Amino acid sequence: MKEKGILELFKLNGKVAIVTGATQGLGQGMAIALAEAGADVCGVGIGDMAETRVKIEALGRKFHSIDADLVNASVEDLNKIVLDTVSVFGHIDILVNNAGIIRRQDTIDFSEENWDDVMNINLKTIFFLSQAVAKQYIKQGKGGKIISIASMLSYQGGIRVPSYTASKSGVKGITMTFANEWAKYNINSNAIAPGYMATANTAPIRADETRAGEILERIPASRWGTPHDVAGVCVFLASEASSYINGFTIAVDGGWLAR
Ligand code: NAP
Repeated sequence: MKEKGILELFKLNGKVAIVTGATQGLGQGMAIALAEAGADVCGVGIGDMAETRVKIEALGRKFHSIDADLVNASVEDLNKIVLDTVSVFGHIDILVNNAGIIRRQDTIDFSEENWDDVMNINLKTIFFLSQAVAKQYIKQGKGGKIISIASMLSYQGGIRVPSYTASKSGVKGITMTFANEWAKYNINSNAIAPGYMATANTAPIRADETRAGEILERIPASRWGTPHDVAGVCVFLASEASSYINGFTIAVDGGWLAR
């Protein structure tokens, strides 16, 4: 059989993607990019996804939203997200574990609530939603993609964000675990580690002139990243073009880790 042309491999026509945290920021950017590449999208989160819906429908793709608080979701709630998506679209091909939060407090005083909330959404939810989606992929028999959003703090310690660092280091770890156990089902589990991106997540540090200046000075690309910067990598990892990439975390950081 003739192999597909290289650009053909990047197309996502007929695919269905779940994207958590698709209201704004990196998640919204990736959801729109997946739709542009051909996928229908199911956005999962707490906020208003109207803007994301309008942009995806304008591309001629379908958008379905599921209301779910991923800090407090039970395993049963996460299983329901899979059932709901399958009942609307018939199948799932791509999962983007994007929703995440950060809490800043001196480590010496760091509270239990700041630990639990961050670990719940950034790590526990990713683990059990991926598990539920992987079961669906195995049932469908055609494999699928899991893309989780890691961070520079999957590699570094960070300052005043211990639960974020623990969760994002964990994301890099379970990305490899999933690959080890599920690659045989044609499931690709990979992660994207964004550098310093201009979104709501980094608004407080961008507002602190000294800290923002120190960060910018250290980025070889001399600028903060944008949601558009992660869109191409997300489409690549969601596509057939990346079928032999397993368990890897790709940094999209303007060179931060090279420093
Ligand atoms: P963001 O603009 O704050 O987006 C976070 C997304 O998660 C939003 O859609 C938000 O929904 C959703 N979310 C928050 N709490 C939720 C909850 N309880 N249940 C369901 N959804 C919830 O930040 P972002 O920068 O795009 O972050 C996206 C991912 O990238 C996160 O995992 C973050 O850790 C990671 N990341 C960001 C950077 C960066 O520099 N910005 C760097 C590395 C990694 P609402 O809009 O409704 O709150």
